[in-house]
Amino acid sequence: MARRYDDSDIEVLRAQLDRPVTERTCPLCGHLGLRSYHREKLGRTTPSMINYLWCSACHGYSSSFTAAERRTVDRDPLQDAYGDRVPELMRDPEGLLVILDGYWEDGRLPQAMIRRR
Ligand SMILES: [Zn+2]
Repeated sequence: MARRYDDSDIEVLRAQLDRPVTERTCPLCGHLGLRSYHREKLGRTTPSMINYLWCSACHGYSSSFTAAERRTVDRDPLQDAYGDRVPELMRDPEGLLVILDGYWEDGRLPQAMIRRR
C-alpha cells in the first residue's frame, strides 16, 4: 500500500538530489530507481506544480507543491485520461500510483520539463 515518506525519509531523499530520479534509492525498501510525475496547477495566483516522487516496489511516495515559474511539462497523460477527475484520484494515493506506474511502463512517463511559452 502507498505510504507517504516521513521527515527522515525525505532527509535521505534530499541527499540524493544531485542524481537523476531513476538513480535514487527508496529510503523505505532500498529499491534503486524512483519515478516522478508532475502536474501543472493553474488557477492560482502563480502557476504551481504538484510533484510526485515514488517507489514502484513499495509505493513509498512524497507529494509536494513548487512554484512552476516559467516551467511546464511536455505532456500530462493523467490529465488527458481523467481531466476534472484528477483531484479525486489524488485522494487515493495507492490507486493513483498504480495508474502512474502504468504510464511509466508504457513510456508516457517520465515527462520532460519545458519552458512555458
Ligand atoms: Zn520502496
